[in-house]
Amino acid sequence: MSIEVKNISKLYKDQKALNNISFKVNDAEIVGFLGPNGAGKSTMMKILTTYIEASEGSANVNNFDVTSEKKNVQKSVGYLPEHNPLYTDLYVREYLNFNANVYGTSKSRINKVIELTGLTPEAHKKIGQLSKGYRQRVGLANALLHNPEVLILDEPTTGLDPNQLIEIRSLIKTIGKEKTVFLSTHIMQEVEAMCDRVIIINKGEVVADKYLKDLREGQEQVVIVEFDYRVEDAFLLRLPNVASVKNTYGFVYEITFSTKEDMRSYVFDFAHDNELKILQLNQKNASLESLFRELTNV
Ligand code: ADP
Ligand code: MG
Repeated sequence: MSIEVKNISKLYKDQKALNNISFKVNDAEIVGFLGPNGAGKSTMMKILTTYIEASEGSANVNNFDVTSEKKNVQKSVGYLPEHNPLYTDLYVREYLNFNANVYGTSKSRINKVIELTGLTPEAHKKIGQLSKGYRQRVGLANALLHNPEVLILDEPTTGLDPNQLIEIRSLIKTIGKEKTVFLSTHIMQEVEAMCDRVIIINKGEVVADKYLKDLREGQEQVVIVEFDYRVEDAFLLRLPNVASVKNTYGFVYEITFSTKEDMRSYVFDFAHDNELKILQLNQKNASLESLFRELTNV
């Protein structure tokens, strides 16, 4: 087990930031820790990385206790903090060299992480000269230096432009093939793009813990259409993203699509191209986003 959290609570003075939280993260999973701002994500991550201590409960990372086996936890974890504090005056390689010395990491490992995070063309530049996307890569390279089993990334994609976003997402997915990744975000789409599983946190409590593949199943879109004439199922199966077609009664068809994109206009065009009239056209949709909204009231 990579991460195991048992009944953790955290009080800041009289404010309860975490309230009796429990969850587990298995080896080699990419798990999204999703919640609105102030939900308690960073607090949980600081406890798991031993920066702060919980008020109640216990947590293990890589089977080490975060209170009594701090050093082993630190060796097991690579951490990218929310506001990744980088020294803008240092050159990329200088910065990584410095931290590698702290960890006692070999020179070859530095080259390895530079390569792994796609920093090779920027390694000779000052951190201050880099775009936000490349700075995040430096943060990731730094987190990977001591080759930890578990990566804890606090909002790794927040503030990136769309191109940087795509690159960092794909980098995290690549890293996630070998390591356990626990990443936080307040943006649902980030979870969809990167994670195997989502743990939703709201007001210091876990409100959902689900595999994305299970959610996606619930997210299939069903379009109900009534034509003025019979249509062969095989015909309807030619529509894009079709998963299945069912003739429910008369000339009414339930078409299931495996996409979130609104498919009604495709059905409309299909009818038009085939000289059919549409008598009714409705959509049943249960989106991941509405689950998040429902659970977090945002
Ligand atoms: P998130 O990362 O999900 O935005 P945080 O863990 O940063 O949430 O914060 C959870 C709650 O705890 C917030 O209400 C925040 O204001 C409060 N909080 C966080 N850190 C501190 C602190 N050091 N002292 C007092 N309150 C804090
Ligand atoms: Mg935070």
